[in-house]
Amino acid sequence: MDDYLEQILHLIEEKGLGYARPVDVSKKLGISQASVTNMLQRLDAEGLVNYTKYRGTTLTEKGLTIANAIIMRHQMLTKFLRLFGLDEETIYKDVEGIEHHVSKDTLNVITSLVAELEEDPELLERIKGRI
Ligand code: MN
Repeated sequence: MDDYLEQILHLIEEKGLGYARPVDVSKKLGISQASVTNMLQRLDAEGLVNYTKYRGTTLTEKGLTIANAIIMRHQMLTKFLRLFGLDEETIYKDVEGIEHHVSKDTLNVITSLVAELEEDPELLERIKGRI
């Protein structure tokens, strides 16, 4: 569900159409169009998207709030791993996994660590020296 909301918002912003097409969601997630359609109907029933057959899907206010939170979580985890100079492919793959499991409390810990490490380059260098 998170992946769908995340990618729908990315698509709406990237394509500038104001909506996401199921075919593009399907490509982004590497999931069949039939499964995408099923999921969009489910998200519609939950009040997270507006899905109409043959038309673009938009996010409801509730869906948009969740999608923004998901994207912020993705960005914070990416920021954290980038501090240590990992390669972008590893960062992306790991973030896509971690973001589904990380709790709000742990994310708060990571957010504080990022802030502290950004203010203390020497500490960051010492940590990197251990890796
Ligand atoms: Mn993500």
